[in-house]
Amino acid sequence: MTDTLTHFIGGEAEGGDAVGESINPSNLDDVVARYPKGTAADVDRAVKAAREAFPGWSEASPEVRSDVLDRAGTIVMQRAKELGELLSREEGKTLPEGMGEVMRAARILKYFAGEALRRHGQTLESTRPGLDVSTYREAVGVFGLITPWNFPIAIPAWKAAPALAFGNTVVMKPATPTPAIAHALVAIIHEAGAPPGVFNLIIGEGGIGSAIVDHPDVDGISFTGSQGVGALVGQGAMKRQTRVQMEMGGKNPLVVLDDADLERAVTCAIDGAFFGTGQRCTASSRIIVTEGIHDRFVEALAERARSLRVGDALDPNSQIGPAVSESQLEQNLKYVEIAKGEGGKVLTGGGPLELDKRGFYMAPTVIADTAPDQRINCEEVFGPVASTVRVKDYDEALEIANRGQFGLSAGIVTNSLKYSRDFRKRIRAGMVMVNLPTAGVDYHVPFGGTRKSSYGAREQGFAAVEFYTQTKTVYVGG
Ligand code: NAD
Repeated sequence: MTDTLTHFIGGEAEGGDAVGESINPSNLDDVVARYPKGTAADVDRAVKAAREAFPGWSEASPEVRSDVLDRAGTIVMQRAKELGELLSREEGKTLPEGMGEVMRAARILKYFAGEALRRHGQTLESTRPGLDVSTYREAVGVFGLITPWNFPIAIPAWKAAPALAFGNTVVMKPATPTPAIAHALVAIIHEAGAPPGVFNLIIGEGGIGSAIVDHPDVDGISFTGSQGVGALVGQGAMKRQTRVQMEMGGKNPLVVLDDADLERAVTCAIDGAFFGTGQRCTASSRIIVTEGIHDRFVEALAERARSLRVGDALDPNSQIGPAVSESQLEQNLKYVEIAKGEGGKVLTGGGPLELDKRGFYMAPTVIADTAPDQRINCEEVFGPVASTVRVKDYDEALEIANRGQFGLSAGIVTNSLKYSRDFRKRIRAGMVMVNLPTAGVDYHVPFGGTRKSSYGAREQGFAAVEFYTQTKTVYVGG
């Protein structure tokens, strides 16, 4: 079945000519949805609707906002199977991963239903007797949310839920390949009782994102996507001196030391590099291995990668789904060629897979003997491609792990307390994993990186209050 999607402007579902198609990357004959391509004029109307809805929503009892989010979370849970299937069909992650992401979105909505009641400030001691000083956390206004395709319901939920919980209104632009699942989330939040204009959705291409960034009446922008687009979003926001938060790419190192448990190290690398088809900003794409375990580890990694079952995201036998799009598959293959050209040795995979249904399938790929500063180890591939680097010892591993422009997540596999502790302190990354893959995070704790991976306040959990509220300091005299 092909869905027909709409924008949501001021609570109205607005069609327009359905011109874009969202295609199932597991089966290119399957059109998941047709969608209208929005314009800058649609963005303008959506921002106006959000502005008009702001006073009522921000001044309502926090219970009203909490109840909407709680009900929305319940509906998402009740429809988890249907939504998980839609997500997997549209984005290509396997059904258990799709269902997991949907449940995560539901939990995020429920978590922020609780946080809506905790928008509290502080009472401070004044230096001047007879004065009371306190701070209040207020809603900011209209937020523009620009989201990527790789977590097409969890990321919209983790931006929209805190924005709404703390009394802001929203104009959201979902990623071009995955509008249907974002549309389903916005419809559910309306069904749960969000008043008209509180949550607006404009579907379309990158231009919609820049129209949101440039709009003079948008008070804050939360962006997740690639580093290149993030740089444009940041420049646009700075020009208008608007608050902005950006979560971008990663080239996350997983360090494997001689004393690691081999099985555990391989499992961390397989999970981190290949699940989600490697399409995770936190993917373990750079594996740095000390020489005492190197040959055994690389051989076992290639063997496990070879045994992974790649297939239709909705097939229960599949462990790895397709790339989201033809251009993403081409990018993955291009990087394999670049790595080979620079001396890397492809131990397994390296090419597209011809399966019975036409989709964007690629074999999980391990490229060994790469040098630390090769492009494969510096640039984000965003596919099922892992490169390995051989090093002498921990110090060299740490030095190489700290190279490059990104600093999102980093992992170490070791039984040494000394090295894991040192790694935690000296690695330049926003998230550190010990004996775990670099990917896989909780939904209620701060998320984000350093350097070119992230800019601005942290996302998720209690950290979100920083970005989605502003502080007012109030002095009261006697
Ligand atoms: P992308 O940068 O191509 O697009 C992200 C969003 O920005 C989309 O909605 C897109 O339409 C929009 N956009 C495109 N051009 C724009 C412009 N000029 N102005 C404003 N918006 C514009 O990213 P993608 O391909 O959708 O997602 C993959 C990327 O996202 C990867 O780099 C990945 O690492 C990153 N990512 C980061 C995190 C994180 O939290 N750090 C999480 C998930 C994904």
